[in-house]
Amino acid sequence: MKVNTSILSCVRQAVRNFVPNHLTGYDVPVKLDQNENTAGVPKSVLDHLNDRLQEVSLHRYPTPRQPEIRSALSKLNVWPADGILVGNGTDELLLMLAFSVLEPGRRALYPSPSFYFYDQVVRVAGAEGIEVPLRNDLQYDVDALVRGVEALEPHVVFLCSPNNPTGSTLNEGEIRKVIESTTGLVVLDEAYWEFHGWNGRELLDEYPNLVLLRTFSKAFAMAGLRVGYLLARSELVEQFAKVQQPYPLNRLSSEAALIAIEQHDVFEKAARDTAVERERLYKRLERLEAVTVYPSRANFLAFRTQLGAQKTFEGLRERGVLVRDLGAHTLMRDTLRVGIGTPEENETFLRALNDLLEVAQYRE
Ligand code: PMP
Repeated sequence: MKVNTSILSCVRQAVRNFVPNHLTGYDVPVKLDQNENTAGVPKSVLDHLNDRLQEVSLHRYPTPRQPEIRSALSKLNVWPADGILVGNGTDELLLMLAFSVLEPGRRALYPSPSFYFYDQVVRVAGAEGIEVPLRNDLQYDVDALVRGVEALEPHVVFLCSPNNPTGSTLNEGEIRKVIESTTGLVVLDEAYWEFHGWNGRELLDEYPNLVLLRTFSKAFAMAGLRVGYLLARSELVEQFAKVQQPYPLNRLSSEAALIAIEQHDVFEKAARDTAVERERLYKRLERLEAVTVYPSRANFLAFRTQLGAQKTFEGLRERGVLVRDLGAHTLMRDTLRVGIGTPEENETFLRALNDLLEVAQYRE
């Protein structure tokens, strides 16, 4: 079909300029490419949800601003309910933050590589995105972040700890250093905090410019339900909420999230088990001569292979295992990311990788 350029001129230039990187959806038995909790939602939680769903009024709009979930999250986090905003996944909250804070002529700063969506929301908002590379060992370069903040005075800094896709973290002192270097907002994305065991909740008491992002998609195994939330000072939340759609969370997701909050200790215990499994997988990968694996505090591991990222990706896919090819990023040449699955899935992955490397003449 012929593209009518005069129609496209209706679309903002910043949007037209942006080239998204969409994932190809492969159908494979072992899918470890999206850092999901592959064990799924525990049966006890599903049964509970099933009971609750009998009473949900699907014909009614959700209650505006989700008072029930915000109150439950308030108790869980010991933070006032009016300092909490719930969204259709953290993704929606990131979009909302970008449209609240950014506009052409403003800047946002974030590490690179990090979660790809920071760059997307910044550019689509028409702002300038400044990427501060990680060090070669994929750890944060905190001095470079602070130098960047001081020189360029961004309106928002996105930090991700543990960082996707590397698994590297910032410690409390490093986070304080960045927060104290800026008059802008610092958004600390804690999508993977449960696998690390530390979060920045206490820093919220001290720093009015700090925003924490959390998700139910990882430790809480509900990626398909799209629930995320944000913790910040109530005066900021009040502003962000103006940018949000009226009913960001549907009634089904709300019910599921409420049960997940009630049973948070079940999920947090499972996340600790995943962290143990991550260390086991790390040690197994470390033994492979053709592989370099990076330390991670999340539910995934970044690893480099002598075979190269693309060949490893394809070879694993042919063997029924899907991982993420990170090789397009200059710091991530030959590097891939594998999610921590169930012990059985992880064994299948290891077998497939061993087989692939053996066929390619590299041996354990
Ligand atoms: N932040 C990070 C660091 C992520 O890795 C992801 C998803 N992979 C998200 C946010 C988005 O999470 P959600 O499913 O809540 O939109």
